[in-house]
Amino acid sequence: MLRKIWLFTPGPTPLLPAAAQAMAMADVHHRTADFRKLLSRCLADLKIFVGTQNDVLLLAASGTGAMEASVANFTSPGDKVTVLSAGKFGERWTGLAKAYGCEVNTVSVPYGKTFDLNAVSGQVKDARVVYMQATETSTGTMHDVRGVAELLHGGDTLLVVDAITGLGTTRFDIDAWGVDVLIGGSQKAVMIPPGLAYLSVSERAWQRAESAKSPRYYFDLRKERKAQVNGETAFTPATSLVAALAAALDYLRAAGGGDLAAGRDNLISNAEITAEMTREAVKAVGMTLFSEAPANAVTAAVPPAGIDSSALVKDFRENFGAVVANGQGEMKGKMVRFAHLGYFDYLDTIGIIGALEHVLGRATGKELFGKGLTAAQSAYRKMRQGDRVAVA
Ligand SMILES: *Cc1c(COP(=O)(O)O)cnc(C)c1O
Repeated sequence: MLRKIWLFTPGPTPLLPAAAQAMAMADVHHRTADFRKLLSRCLADLKIFVGTQNDVLLLAASGTGAMEASVANFTSPGDKVTVLSAGKFGERWTGLAKAYGCEVNTVSVPYGKTFDLNAVSGQVKDARVVYMQATETSTGTMHDVRGVAELLHGGDTLLVVDAITGLGTTRFDIDAWGVDVLIGGSQKAVMIPPGLAYLSVSERAWQRAESAKSPRYYFDLRKERKAQVNGETAFTPATSLVAALAAALDYLRAAGGGDLAAGRDNLISNAEITAEMTREAVKAVGMTLFSEAPANAVTAAVPPAGIDSSALVKDFRENFGAVVANGQGEMKGKMVRFAHLGYFDYLDTIGIIGALEHVLGRATGKELFGKGLTAAQSAYRKMRQGDRVAVA
């Protein structure tokens, strides 16, 4: 049979064709009026996509670059910071903050769990900065950003949120909630390749950046702010990726009938629907959800006892060209992760669930045909009738 490659991984995600085309055409010098116009438009659109009045800056880096910038710019060595950690990306915050000499209080809950606000409230209030994920990609878990933000009201603790897979899959109102820094990455819901990170920065956070003493050079956000107001960057920008991002944001605006915020909401609804289809399907074929608070960005599905997920991942790839994610680190072999962030539609979702019926059926020796698909079809119909969801 023909073999197409299908990415179902939570980054990189499938590439939007219009973005791929824009990249191929982007033979442009960055110190020109044309590029300044492109970057300025991208930054203005990103503010709408993120949903903030705060500055949004773009960096030539993977998502972790913006995470590092959020430690380097807002802390001084010896600062007491709190990390809410429930997976591999939470652990990354701890590693970063330690690397910059912060005194790190890591509040952790087991993989697959989320935080009890009552239990963490005493741990966050006196911190200089609180670091967390909106969605922990390694476990498929959504955390309560709004709840944590509310715990911090009235204090001068900064809240920094890694929303790298949260953006475009989760509803936020970050200015109303008081999120100081929110981070996104290009290879996730915005449907373009890896290489760009972006982050919103509140006025409070800018003030902190002035007094912060941690070392910074490439990721000095003050330099980027000065340059980016004028459509420039402090260093050579990833020009082709900026062109791709502009095209992707145009695509979302068109999907929202000319309104980018509506297009973003449509993208979120899409993730909600495809995630719900997948959750119902994996349960119907005898898998369980790894997370107690499943995110719409990615579904982490645990196979029945005795089955190693690595074998399932291999079968998906070899027989269906489908690249699904295994568990990360200690979770390897324990779960299959299916992404819903970005350019995934109904047909992609039905396709991967059809393949899952084969893959898991072979591994378990059970007849699963129709089980996952029936559950997914019902979930789709229910979601489309639900009053929350307005799909263009
Ligand atoms: C993908 C991802 C990152 C960024 O990882 P990079 O490899 O640096 O792009 C950070 N946090 C979360 C939650 C992610 O899913």
